[in-house]
Amino acid sequence: MSLVASGVTRHYLRHRKSHTALSGIDLDIAPGARMALVGESGSGKTTLLKTLLALDRPDSGTVTLDGTPVAPGSARSLRWFRRRVQYIPQDPATSLDPRKSVVDLVATPLRLLGSEGDHRALARNALAAVGLNERFLQRRPSELSGGQNQRVAIARAVACEPEYLLADEPVSGLDLDLREQVLDVLGELSTRTSTALLVVSHDLSVAARLCSDISVMCDGSIVESGSIAAVLTNPSHPHTRALLDAVPRLRSN
Ligand code: ADP
Ligand code: MG
Repeated sequence: MSLVASGVTRHYLRHRKSHTALSGIDLDIAPGARMALVGESGSGKTTLLKTLLALDRPDSGTVTLDGTPVAPGSARSLRWFRRRVQYIPQDPATSLDPRKSVVDLVATPLRLLGSEGDHRALARNALAAVGLNERFLQRRPSELSGGQNQRVAIARAVACEPEYLLADEPVSGLDLDLREQVLDVLGELSTRTSTALLVVSHDLSVAARLCSDISVMCDGSIVESGSIAAVLTNPSHPHTRALLDAVPRLRSN
């Protein structure tokens, strides 16, 4: 019972040449797992998340949830999957419907997914938890800053109380105070509802704060994985060592 990628491969055409974005990825996210996914820019993290979310179709390999294969399809056919697996995109501003108000952006998925309860009240609670109060409820995405849109996207995913939450650099656009607040929201969700987290972050301190396990990507492959404590104290792959060297504070702790 878990969200699993098996042998997932994805190529893109670039200058008429095939470029391998994912190269035979195997990844098993167990219920309640808290896994960080790190790796330099272009290593395939976003492509892997999109594949796990059935937003992108692999060239070969499969993604399964509790053994049932999932692949991009109609919203209706994926509804059961979306109820259980949610996403915080890397670039929330472009993924939010510009015509909708903040409160509708969060309440609409709850309605479409058939969540129980008062959808607008649930949306207001989720928005308050990420520091967006009543003043923001009727605004459109274009009237918000990048960090505010990011928090709308986080509230939207968290409000659904998914079993799996895949977050792509969830706090990268936020200043320090908000970053703490949002990390608390994600940690609290994971603890309260046993939501599994897969968190992409270039910041290893975010990974260490939220997650217990880590997978390191390099050139479309997972080159190292294990408990954060073990990987950070004794990295085996040169790429992991290079990432660690970029964060001297963690290394000396
Ligand atoms: P990361 O999130 O780790 O920075 P990505 O998954 O975004 O990496 O990208 C992995 C590789 O695939 C990169 O070389 C990127 O240029 C390429 N890539 C990603 N999306 C596309 C696309 N839609 N078309 C062409 N190439 C892409
Ligand atoms: Mg990315």
